[in-house]
Amino acid sequence: MRNGLVSAKVSEDNQGISAIIPDVSVVVPVHDEVESLPLLLEAIASSLSENNLSYEIICVDDGSTDGSDQFLKEQAQTRTDLKAVILRRNYGQTAAMAAGFNYALGEAIVTLDADLQNDPADIPMLLAKLAEGYDLVSGWRHKRQDAVVSRLLPSKIANWLIGKITGVKLHDYGCSLKAYRSEVVADMNLYGELHRFLPALAYIEGARITEIPVRHHSRRFGRSKYGIWRTFRVLMDLLTISFMKKFLTRPMHVFGLLGLASIISGTGIGIYLTFIKLVLGQMIGNRPLLILAVLLLVTGVQLFCFGLLAELLMRTYHESQGRPIYRVREVVAKNGN
Ligand code: UDP
Ligand code: MG
Repeated sequence: MRNGLVSAKVSEDNQGISAIIPDVSVVVPVHDEVESLPLLLEAIASSLSENNLSYEIICVDDGSTDGSDQFLKEQAQTRTDLKAVILRRNYGQTAAMAAGFNYALGEAIVTLDADLQNDPADIPMLLAKLAEGYDLVSGWRHKRQDAVVSRLLPSKIANWLIGKITGVKLHDYGCSLKAYRSEVVADMNLYGELHRFLPALAYIEGARITEIPVRHHSRRFGRSKYGIWRTFRVLMDLLTISFMKKFLTRPMHVFGLLGLASIISGTGIGIYLTFIKLVLGQMIGNRPLLILAVLLLVTGVQLFCFGLLAELLMRTYHESQGRPIYRVREVVAKNGN
């Protein structure tokens, strides 16, 4: 990573309009955090300029009703280091972060909460770790300042489950303070509450991931936007992720296999019942096994067809977006061919 404002690179987009590429874009989702914002902007600015890093702050207002949007708009007109992205309504933290990623130009992207629970003074430390060759550095709130029953407990369980299912071993997936190499973020589409699974998604895309302990403060202003119900939404997203990780490029392997197993056992039972009927001459109309055989055959065929459809969908997904099924870290060739 380069140091200092002067060394910032200039890029041209396809209309020939040039933009400065800063070392880091700091993306902050904001929903009703007007008291925290002035302190937050100052803290980010001083932490980064003290370390001679060129930066931009992208605050995404996610449908605030307390005047946060107004404050950000005013600030963005006077400060050169701030971009205010105002969403039309409240879409949720994940969408706000996705919007921020869209407008970020930096070589690295750092995300953090607007409520001052994360400490902007930790950003240079995350960036230094990123420069060691990682694609994603996640913060770990090792001394987390939140309620025990509604927060720490569900979060402990969720972290354990996410680790088990995704295979990415982090202590704290929920920490918003994370640093990414920008290519890693560009590769990912976010839905639902997926922002906490960014490490897992990045891992699926082959990123090198690590974590470091960061500071965490209790909320000074306003209230948390979430309650215990978030845990359930996170669990549903976890199911999606675990499926994507295993079968994104080969859905037929799961549906086809299940369907085949179901068809084979249904046929087996069917043959057995036919034998009983034709050879032994017994009644089979009142046997529960008959219902089971029919059920297995029907669901088997359905699963099989579903697998085929999923294959088609998967191909459309990859081909329509020009998404290869692999990710290249780098290409090395002596004469550049
Ligand atoms: N946030 C948002 N949209 C929402 C809810 C939250 O942009 O619908 C922002 C919020 O302003 C904060 C961050 O997401 O910057 C995390 O929210 P919060 O502090 O309420 O979550 P907690 O830290 O309690 O998990
Ligand atoms: Mg918070």
